[in-house]
Amino acid sequence: MTPAEALLQELGITEPEEIDLETIAYHVGARVRFRPLCGCEAHILGCGGHAIITVKHDSSARRKRFSIAHELGHWRFHRGKTLVCRVDEYRPRDAQSPEKAADGYAADLLMPRYLFAPRASALGRIAFDSIGRVAEAFKTSLSVTVLVTQARASFPRRYALGGAVALLCIAYVTARTSEMVDASTSTSRSSRNATSASIFG
Ligand SMILES: [Zn+2]
Repeated sequence: MTPAEALLQELGITEPEEIDLETIAYHVGARVRFRPLCGCEAHILGCGGHAIITVKHDSSARRKRFSIAHELGHWRFHRGKTLVCRVDEYRPRDAQSPEKAADGYAADLLMPRYLFAPRASALGRIAFDSIGRVAEAFKTSLSVTVLVTQARASFPRRYALGGAVALLCIAYVTARTSEMVDASTSTSRSSRNATSASIFG
């Protein structure tokens, strides 16, 4: 069990809708606030056992959830360090990158295996609307859901890849009209999505 999953179990969370990130943040000493931010999606400042996570106030609800979860990953793994990070939704990164650790923590916090696996396995052959149902249950973006599904060995890789292709096709057609597109195209505009995280222990 990963640290994020252990935290959820410690809190007695048994359903996806119980994953209240602001409450979880409070539990680990971090307060979440929403403010206008320019040039980044979120950042975290920590001192001792307390931190403040600031999230861009006008981002989509699911984007905010990912940003909070990502910053909580930095809070869990990178206390005492000062770093500048970029968060572009969940995506492959350098294995040694602090961003990968924060992304992994976010994925586990948003879609813990003990809640995710039963739902994913129940889907059978994955269709695009199935991905959507899982994303809806966990309040995650479609791109995060596809990539997490792909990354977890319990799910047939070819089905997740099919979902990813479908996602990219639909995203391309409906560019600039939906949150899904916002997430899918984020790698091409990473400079606008820079997330700074300063973690002082
Ligand atoms: Zn980061």
